Amino acid sequence: MIDESIVVDLHSHTSASDGQLSPADLVARALHKGVGVLAITDHDTTAGLAEAHQFNQQQSNPLQLIDGVEISTRWHNFDIHIVALNVALDDQPLQDFLSNQRQLRQTRAEEIGARLAKAGIEGAYEGASALADGAALSRGHYARWLADNGYAVNPASVFKKYLARGKTGYVPNNWSDMATAISFIHQAGGVAVLAHPSGYKLSAKWLKRLVREFAQCGGDAIEVILGQQSIEDRNNLIALSKLNGLTASLGSDFHFPGSWIELGKNMFRPKDVQWVWQSDAWRAHGADMDSNLALSQ
Ligand code: AMP
Ligand code: MN
Ligand code: MN
Ligand code: MN
Repeated sequence: MIDESIVVDLHSHTSASDGQLSPADLVARALHKGVGVLAITDHDTTAGLAEAHQFNQQQSNPLQLIDGVEISTRWHNFDIHIVALNVALDDQPLQDFLSNQRQLRQTRAEEIGARLAKAGIEGAYEGASALADGAALSRGHYARWLADNGYAVNPASVFKKYLARGKTGYVPNNWSDMATAISFIHQAGGVAVLAHPSGYKLSAKWLKRLVREFAQCGGDAIEVILGQQSIEDRNNLIALSKLNGLTASLGSDFHFPGSWIELGKNMFRPKDVQWVWQSDAWRAHGADMDSNLALSQ
């Protein structure tokens, strides 16, 4: 039985994508930070989960580890991220879909490197690839390499200068649409969560439209509690979830130690909110997990 004192964090990254901790180190850190339920949600891959489970099972007081993945989709030229929770890792159609997503990542990464080289920045593709160390390339790897090599003071300003829409290294994405991603998630037994809805820098009108269309595409939940957000933002997201009949999720989107973002940090659970693990969708799709986890609160 999960009571209110258990810390739940349903969005995190490992070195299987653009996080900096190995899956085992991520689990160790989550345990150290007092997290009770953790979802690992790497970009377009579930490759980190086997190691995470193996390490977790060796612990005397293991986490409740949820199998997840964060899928990039395209909506009106925006990159919209959908977090899948409770997916069956051995679902072949989902794995084929993710494999195609990683192929799109690779093609895009090469194009980003070519555009940066044309602008006089040599070696970015090789540098980002070295940081990825076999993981599918993300703009996060480029941001780190460019910051490490003095092209901007930190990864966030790299984004502003080079990687955001309209900048030198920006390559228009070619991801699947939301409905396609959601249907793969569902048939793999998972629930679909709209990730960090306030992170897309949409106007209030477009954000409303995004949440409505996500729900119309079959989406189940939206993240309403993020690692860092204002009270107004949190209240707005809770209101949007209720307006659209979506349950609520929460996650830090942790990538690496040392920033303001931390595993389990600020993962408040307001009283009047229906959480994704309390939903019919969770029970319908993730029946095994439900009985394992008994996430009642
Ligand atoms: P991609 O999935 O390849 O488009 O890259 C998106 C990733 O880049 C995110 O998951 C973050 O890890 C990172 N990212 C996005 N925006 C920023 C930003 N403003 N500053 C630093 N990292 C960012
Ligand atoms: Mn990332
Ligand atoms: Mn994301
Ligand atoms: Mn993420």
